[in-house]
Amino acid sequence: MLGFSLQKIIVLGLLIAAVWYGFKYIGRLQRVDRGERKKGERTMGERVRKAARERSGVTDAEIIEDTEKCPRCGTFIPVGSECSCKRR
Ligand SMILES: [Zn+2]
Repeated sequence: MLGFSLQKIIVLGLLIAAVWYGFKYIGRLQRVDRGERKKGERTMGERVRKAARERSGVTDAEIIEDTEKCPRCGTFIPVGSECSCKRR
């Protein structure tokens, strides 16, 4: 007998993989934080949001709100919202 079972080797392998991917993920988060993101690289949160948008069939272009010019001050504001100049 070798003293350790196949099961233990598998668990050990999974642990090493988890630590390895954990470090890679943390490294990526730190790069994104510093603005050193690689081309096309996304954080986990950004990937989840992108996947959610793709599932709902909404593209980035459709999310951008329409704006209209405020008749009083000329600032562009989202359609249907009130410009802050009216509250002054
Ligand atoms: Zn205004």
